[in-house]
Amino acid sequence: MNKTKAYSAASATSPLSLDTIHRREATAHDVQIEILFCGICHSDLHTVRDEWNSVMPTTYPCVPGHEIVGRVTGIGSAVTHFKTGDLVGVGCLVDSDQSCPNCQADVEQFCPGATFTYNSPDKHLGGVTYGGYSENIVVDEKFVLHVPDNLEPAGVAPLLCAGITTYSPIRRWGDIKGKKVGVVGLGGLGHMGVKFARAFGAHVVVFTTSPGKKEDALRLGAHEVIISTNPDEMQEHAGTFDFILDTISADHDINAYIGMLGLDGNITLVGAPEKPLAVSAFALLFGRKSLSGSLIGGIKETQEMLDFCGRHNITSDVEIIPINKVNEAYVLLFRRLVTYRFSIDMASLKSE
Ligand SMILES: [Zn+2]
Ligand SMILES: [Zn+2]
Repeated sequence: MNKTKAYSAASATSPLSLDTIHRREATAHDVQIEILFCGICHSDLHTVRDEWNSVMPTTYPCVPGHEIVGRVTGIGSAVTHFKTGDLVGVGCLVDSDQSCPNCQADVEQFCPGATFTYNSPDKHLGGVTYGGYSENIVVDEKFVLHVPDNLEPAGVAPLLCAGITTYSPIRRWGDIKGKKVGVVGLGGLGHMGVKFARAFGAHVVVFTTSPGKKEDALRLGAHEVIISTNPDEMQEHAGTFDFILDTISADHDINAYIGMLGLDGNITLVGAPEKPLAVSAFALLFGRKSLSGSLIGGIKETQEMLDFCGRHNITSDVEIIPINKVNEAYVLLFRRLVTYRFSIDMASLKSE
C-alpha cells in the first residue's frame, strides 16, 4: 500500500483537514494517477455533512472529490489503453460489476454493484473509497478517461461530473440542432448545459431568477435570457420549447417550466431538490409532455463528452483554489455564492 496525503472530514461537523490515507499498489489492470486538479461538486458537501444519510450514509473519515484530472505515473502489466505521462480523468465511478445489463448497455452509473469514487465500499482494501482531494489515486483502466491535451486541466476537472451530467440528457434527447432548448439555473451544472446546447447548434434560452446573470449567460453562449420571476417574459415564451434542462437543486415550481414546453416537449431534471416536487398532471397531459431525470453518464459516453470538449474547446469556468481554502469554498458553495465551479490545485497539497 502507498501512503498518500489527503484532505478528509472526521465527522459531519468537522472541517476538512490534512490526513494520510492508503492507496492500493496498482494491480495488473490499474492506472496510478497523480492528481493535478479536483473540482468541488455539491455532492462533496452533501456527503461530508452526511446530508444524504437516508440513502447513502457517510463513513468517516471521508475524502470527497469526483472531478479528477491528473497524469498517469504508473500502469499495471495488463493495461493497454494508457501510458505514463498521459493526461487522464476520473469521474464519479471507479468500478462496477461489469456484467449486469446496465454495464453491458454502457450505463455503469446504474449498475447495482457500482463503486463510486468516494464513500463506496472498497473491494480492494476494505473500508470505503477515497476521492480526489488527495495526491494520487489508483483506478481500474476501464474507469479512466483520456483527456484531450488541448484543454486546460483546471477547467477539465468539473467536466467529469457537472459536464457529463448535462451532456448526457442533451445527447439522449436527440438532434437538438435548430431546436429551442431551455436551461433552468446558471450554476455549475447550468453553465455547462448552456455551452453544450450551444455547441450542438440549439437556440439556447437561460431561465434565471437573477437579472445580474444575464450578461454572463449571453457570454457563455445563450441566445436569450428569461427572468423567470417576470410573468410577462415567461408568458411570451409559453409553449415554445422542445427541451428544457432543469439544473435547480432547490425547491421550485416545476409546472411553470412544463408550461414552457411545446407539443411532445421534455423537461429533464439533473438537480435533486430535497423535497418532492408537486407536478400538475394536466400540465403534462396537454401537449403530451414528459418529465425525466438523468444521472451523470456511463464511461463510454463520458469519453465521448471529453472528446467533444476537445474538438469544441469546451471547459468549465472555474475559480482555482489551494486545498487549504476548501473549507471557505464550502461555505461559499453552501450560501450559493460560487459563480460556477471551484477547482482545487492539488499541487498545493504537497506543501501542506
Ligand atoms: Zn458531482
Ligand atoms: Zn453492472
